[in-house]
Parts: sequence; structure tokens; C-alpha cells
Amino acid sequence: MLAAYITHPDCARHDMGPQHPECPQRLSAVHDQLLMRGLLDHMVPCDAPLATPEQLGRAHHALYVQELMAKSPSEGLVQVDPDTSMGPHTLQAALRAAGAVVEATELVLSGQVSTAFCAVRPPGHHAERAAAMGFCFFNNVAVGIRHALDVHGLQRVALIDFDVHHGNGSEDIFRGDARVLMCSIFEQGLYPFNGERATGPNMVNVGLPTRSGSEAFREAVTGHWLPALEAFRPELIYVSAGFDAHREDDMGNLGLVDADYEWVTARLMDVAERHCRGRLISCLEGGYVLNPLGRSAAAHVKALIGAA
Ligand SMILES: [Zn+2]
Repeated sequence: MLAAYITHPDCARHDMGPQHPECPQRLSAVHDQLLMRGLLDHMVPCDAPLATPEQLGRAHHALYVQELMAKSPSEGLVQVDPDTSMGPHTLQAALRAAGAVVEATELVLSGQVSTAFCAVRPPGHHAERAAAMGFCFFNNVAVGIRHALDVHGLQRVALIDFDVHHGNGSEDIFRGDARVLMCSIFEQGLYPFNGERATGPNMVNVGLPTRSGSEAFREAVTGHWLPALEAFRPELIYVSAGFDAHREDDMGNLGLVDADYEWVTARLMDVAERHCRGRLISCLEGGYVLNPLGRSAAAHVKALIGAA
């Protein structure tokens, strides 16, 4: 079973300042762990192409895409929300990040690989149809999903989000779209302070209390996600893979451990084997403490390539 590893050096050039947790070193932390554990030996390396305005426009308002592109500074930082700013290299990184998921979709649907991991930044799941927020500019996974639906004609796609924060952007883009089932867990009371109430029949949001731990997480997956996925029978699974629910990541307090990421990925691969011919595309979202980020991503990728 072949897996693609999609990334690009441009993704490490986006820099929101020395104190910002969404830092370029996140990508080398992930890469180093994958390399050290021999996981990259099992993966096909691919450069992320730039997403086109047409591809971005499937998930975002065309005017939003134009306005964001126009804000790109030649020097310094331009604030787009209290936590999110654009530097001279941000737009290129954001276009690569969204392009990575489009490329993953092409590689998987053409049968060249079964699975793909997009090691990209900026992340995407807080980016709404017409708003950058929470370190996100374009909703990378949503752009990939719309490519699968609108260009390749898929009819049922699942989006799984295990980042500690609710994927409000993905929810904004896919609410009411019966072609997409979104299954999400998140920590209650955390940014972006929504998600508690599912906004449509295609949204399976599970808010977990602070310090829930591994057992509650796994119960949420087996009790809520897996039955919904079995009933939906997706043709392809996308994962918004944020690793900030890890107990060593101070961005949240859910208390997960490395093994939880391997476990949940293996459960999703079971679903992919049964319904999707093993096809699953994962894209990095959050995860801000470098060591647990790298270890958790490696645990996730290990299950993704079937080495678990
Ligand atoms: Zn997050």
C-alpha cells in the first residue's frame, strides 16, 4: 500500500514572529520523527503545488480569495485577525498548503497511492468560507474535499477532525452539504468557542470536557464517529490531523497520548478498507509543542501506512 508524503520548503517560510506558536519549526519536528523512525522509507515524496484561484474558490468566496491575495505584504506583517498575520512568504505557503491536499486527492483518486499525509502549514480548519482566523488562511482540507466532489464527482466524503479545537471553518463550509459527513472532537470551552451544538445532520460534533483523557476520547470515537461513518459509507476519508490534544501540548487540556493517535488512525483505516478501498488523506492542522507534535504525527503516519 503506497503512501504519499506531500510538503514543500515554502511552507516553512511563513513566519508570524518569534513568539508565535504556529512556527516554521513545526514542520521539521514532524519530518525529523518520520525520518528517524524509518517511516519516510515507506512513502513517496511529493512537492506540494500551488493551489489555483479556481480550486480555492470552490471552498471560499472568490472575493475573499482576491482580497487575501491583495493583502500579501512585500515586507513586515499584516494582521488579519488577533492571532493571525501575513508576512511576505505567507501567501505562497498558504497556496502550497491547499495545493498539497488537491495533489493528495489527485494521487489517491488516480490510484497512484492509497493514502497521503500533507505536512504543511499554515493550517486550515479554522478558515471559514470568507474569513481567515486562528492561524488559518485557506481551509486546506475543504479545498481538497471540494476538488474530490466537484472535479472527480465523488458523492460521499468523510471529514474527521481530531484537533483539540473545533474546526469551525470546515463546519462553515460543509454545513448542509449532504455529500460530506464531518466528525469532530474538541475540548469544550476552548477557542473558537463553538461546536457544542451540531449545525446540521451531517455534523457529528463531540465536545469533551477538559482533562477527559484517552478513554473518553476513544469512547467518543467508537460511540459516535464509527457508527456514523459505517452508516454514511464514505468513498474517501480526509483527516484534519491536529495534535494539540496531546497531554504535553499546553494549547489544550484533553490529555491524549501518542498511542491515541495511532489507535484512532487505525480505526479510520479500518473504515477506509471497508468502504473506501483503503483511501485516506490526512493534513496537518495544530500541534504546538515540538516534541509531542513530532511523535504524535509519527504515530499517526505509522498507522496510515499500515506499519502499525
Ligand atoms: Zn488546534
